Amino acid sequence: MLKYKRVLLKLSGEALMGADKYGINTKVLNEYAEQIKEVAQLGVEVGIVIGGGNIFRGLSGVNKGFDRVKGDQMGMLATVINSIAIQSALNSIGQKAKVLTSINMAPVGEIYSKDKALELFAQGYVVIIGGGTGNPFFTTDTASSLRGVEIEAEVLLKGTRVDGVYTADPEKDPAAIKYDELSFDEAYNKNLKVMDLTSFAMCKENNLPIIVFDMNTAGNLKKLLLGEKIGTIVKN
Ligand code: UDP
Repeated sequence: MLKYKRVLLKLSGEALMGADKYGINTKVLNEYAEQIKEVAQLGVEVGIVIGGGNIFRGLSGVNKGFDRVKGDQMGMLATVINSIAIQSALNSIGQKAKVLTSINMAPVGEIYSKDKALELFAQGYVVIIGGGTGNPFFTTDTASSLRGVEIEAEVLLKGTRVDGVYTADPEKDPAAIKYDELSFDEAYNKNLKVMDLTSFAMCKENNLPIIVFDMNTAGNLKKLLLGEKIGTIVKN
């Protein structure tokens, strides 16, 4: 039995680097594609938003002397590169997938709209939404909550390399304890890093639960969608 029928999966650009220092690690890319195919084949409608930090970040552009808006536009294009990579990896293992973009750039992908995304879901496609929100000064965390709310996803799945939300950074503090469940208010009051604030507020106001989980362990995504308690759920 599926626990969730429609989800928005947020993947970080950094995660795609794997052990590399930059860019796209094909081993990680293919592992992600396998996991995504597995749940798409179960009948889950999967929307994906991916970051771009493995290629370019707006703020790093500012440090190099670029105007912030230009830097952010470069960052948004980086997310499109990652989106195309995921689409290709899915297509090559026989999973239908399409990139929609928040910025007009046909023929790379059709422009995103809720209607188009739902039409593709109905035809069995995984829908990858590239280009962030299309606006500077936002992040792909915010793009994922925005698109998640828009497409009426039941949950926002934040795939990371950590298996949930902890009392402190588990990579730095070995005494950190993992939460299984948190309310948005608790997470906010305790200043726990779940998503950035704009994104967090959007999820809270629109009642979109967030599950932070370890996407780097094969099979986790499927287990989660079948109802196993994986990661940390943040909800109202
Ligand atoms: N970006 C943007 N608007 C968006 C989404 C992303 O301007 O709606 C840019 C921004 O410059 C960001 C980069 O794209 O640094 C990559 O996105 P990601 O969310 O991975 O950035 P991070 O939060 O890791 O810097």
